Amino acid sequence: MFANIIVDITHEKLDKIFQYRVPSRLEGELCTGMEVTVPFGRGNRRIKGYVIGFSETCDYDLSKVKEIEDISRKGVAIEGRLVALAAWMKENYGGTMIQALKTVLPIKQKEQEKVKKRIRLLVSEAEGKEKLSYYLEKNQRARARLLAALLDDAVLDYELVNKKLNITLSVVRALEEQGILALESERVFRNPVHQDMYGNGRDGQPQNGNPGNGHKKEPIQFTDEQRAAVETFWQDYKEGRYGTYLLHGVTGSGKTEVYIEMIRRVVEEGRQAIVLIPEIALTFQTVMRFYCCFGERVSIMHSRLSAGERYDQMMRAKEGEIDVMIGPRSALFTPFPDLGLVVIDEEHENTYKSEQVPRYHARETAVARANMECASVVLGSATPSLEAMYRAKRGEYRLLELRQRSMRQEMAKVHVVDLREELKNGNRSILSDKLAELMEERLQKKEQIMLFLNRRGYAGFVSCRECGHVIKCPHCDVSLSSHMGGKLVCHYCGHEKIRPMVCPECKSRHVGEFRAGTQQIEEIVKTRFPTAKVLRMDMDTTREKDGHEKILAAFANEEADILVGTQMIVKGHDFPNVTLVGILAADMSLYGNDYRSGERTFALLTQAAGRAGRGQKAGEAVIQTYSPEHYAIQTAARQDYAAFYEEEIRYRELMGYPPVENLLAVLVSCEDEALLEKGCHYLKEYAVNACKGVKIDIIGPASPGIGKINDVFRKVLYLKSEKYDTLVVVKNRLEKYIELNRGFDKIRIQFDFNPMNVF
Ligand code: ADP
Ligand code: ZN
Ligand code: ZN
Repeated sequence: MFANIIVDITHEKLDKIFQYRVPSRLEGELCTGMEVTVPFGRGNRRIKGYVIGFSETCDYDLSKVKEIEDISRKGVAIEGRLVALAAWMKENYGGTMIQALKTVLPIKQKEQEKVKKRIRLLVSEAEGKEKLSYYLEKNQRARARLLAALLDDAVLDYELVNKKLNITLSVVRALEEQGILALESERVFRNPVHQDMYGNGRDGQPQNGNPGNGHKKEPIQFTDEQRAAVETFWQDYKEGRYGTYLLHGVTGSGKTEVYIEMIRRVVEEGRQAIVLIPEIALTFQTVMRFYCCFGERVSIMHSRLSAGERYDQMMRAKEGEIDVMIGPRSALFTPFPDLGLVVIDEEHENTYKSEQVPRYHARETAVARANMECASVVLGSATPSLEAMYRAKRGEYRLLELRQRSMRQEMAKVHVVDLREELKNGNRSILSDKLAELMEERLQKKEQIMLFLNRRGYAGFVSCRECGHVIKCPHCDVSLSSHMGGKLVCHYCGHEKIRPMVCPECKSRHVGEFRAGTQQIEEIVKTRFPTAKVLRMDMDTTREKDGHEKILAAFANEEADILVGTQMIVKGHDFPNVTLVGILAADMSLYGNDYRSGERTFALLTQAAGRAGRGQKAGEAVIQTYSPEHYAIQTAARQDYAAFYEEEIRYRELMGYPPVENLLAVLVSCEDEALLEKGCHYLKEYAVNACKGVKIDIIGPASPGIGKINDVFRKVLYLKSEKYDTLVVVKNRLEKYIELNRGFDKIRIQFDFNPMNVF
């Protein structure tokens, strides 16, 4: 028996696997993910390694294969547990072990450590004074300056001494040699929470409409529902019944307060917690709420941190310096020594699914990690994913409900406006009469308005009004987007061309943009309400660092009356003075060609409407749509999740879509179209054979929505089964088949379980 081992992962490149012989005394005990000591290199240096798998054969010269020395007895190191999680991910989502390891151990290179140097006086005051007069006598001014400073203050910061007193290192060393002082250095970790609050040119003043959010906060009085949610969780937890909970709470019901209380109790037991939130909701305001409770023992992780900062957060977590880690999907792999709780806020969000191999979903992966480490998981949402609610209804998750807003505020009153009727009545504007009327009213009352469009960019695609021809990218099978300055741009490959004046197909002059973008809406609004102050938030205006934070802060401080934006404005912020939300074109997300578009639309509309009336004043929302009768729109207008769920799950049952059944997409891509066809043919043939006798539907190969990206052709094969595990078995067989056949060398194949989009 041989073990495949990755050695000293923080230093070595992960791409190398070493094989070691498993001594018979360790057989049966040694498992994947365990930390071991092995002899390494010519000198047989003893180093650490992690077992990532076993094999019965050895690919190397047998006489040279060394033996594992022992299992690390200090208990399994945290990396070991994450390696085990990686193995679980590889199995359940496909891809290689290396890819999985790179996902769970995202920091491979040790980053430059940040060190703080201090100078400490070692001699007595009398001795010091004597030396000082000696230096002065000898006119050794630098030495005198340093010693005088030390006599005032026995410990000094080296930086300060160097900069303010203008003393070089050699002077310090000279005094050190004489035994007058010691130069000490201490490792310090970069702390992004602190930096975010006081660094980056900020002045540390209360901001973001969170007045006086300094460090103290009045303790809130929990509502009965909030208390019940916490206690249910806690009863189980206290008795070691760890599990998964779905916290379904309407918008503004105080879910975050519930998370904080649960975390507080878990932390009190000496364990740690991870809070996952969609990156876009990782705002100053959110972090501040946790900071108020956990102080410096909370940290954040996100893509805008430097590599050094991220490395330090991992180290701080490992060394027990922090209790709570907040971050997007990847923060799930924080190496806490004793993880007790994972919270996933807005668990229905698409961003919890990775679009890179292994294409894992943070929800399932969190549950897997929690199982391995005896921790609990709390999923929270106002609009739970069908997956989460389906499992809650089947008893796999425990359901906790908050039906009321925290201060018993009314939910927003929602109006549905039929845009077809507007057109019939001669209104061609993007603002319906109803919305414009309500906007006028709010502006007079000095209340704020949010206008929401689920689309980015200045405008959408360009098409011919006469023949319907859509201008597409010559390299990708997608329409080009119109940008400022008469340019058309491909959002996949970046291809650009000048916007044509006549239709390339029929020569008609009626070519134009389809539908408006946020920038256009901003202009329309400004024209219609010339005295109103308008802010816009979309990809373009938030590109700079902290861009989106600044816009939100300005709006929270009521520096503007109207905020126009894409879906990024619906998350993570409380604006008590917003009493009107307009959803300009609800249909844009409704007719995407995939099975989740109804769910996505319902969630977007509900969350958007939920932005209105969160303060004392009651809110209203206007949903503009071409299909007012659609159940996703109807139920969102009533903010009736239960009704939506019933309709939606019926449709999923009927079609055999997730979560009722499981779907495995096999994504196949290749530059050579003929080779792609051939590869797909063989894959399907093999899959059909491999699935004989098991209940699996095989669909395709089909051309995905986007048939070509960057001149690479794509096809997709779908396998559908009631049981996830059956799909895993087939995936494993396909992986072997692909590995053994040279014919697939030039073809890229990826697996995607229960994909978020149809490709
Ligand atoms: P959610 O996450 O469900 O949208 P939040 O936790 O953000 O809700 O709460 C919305 C607002 O209500 C926040 O400002 C929060 O401080 C406040 N809040 C929550 N629970 C209570 C409570 N029991 N009493 C008073 N205010 C509360
Ligand atoms: Zn035309
Ligand atoms: Zn392109």
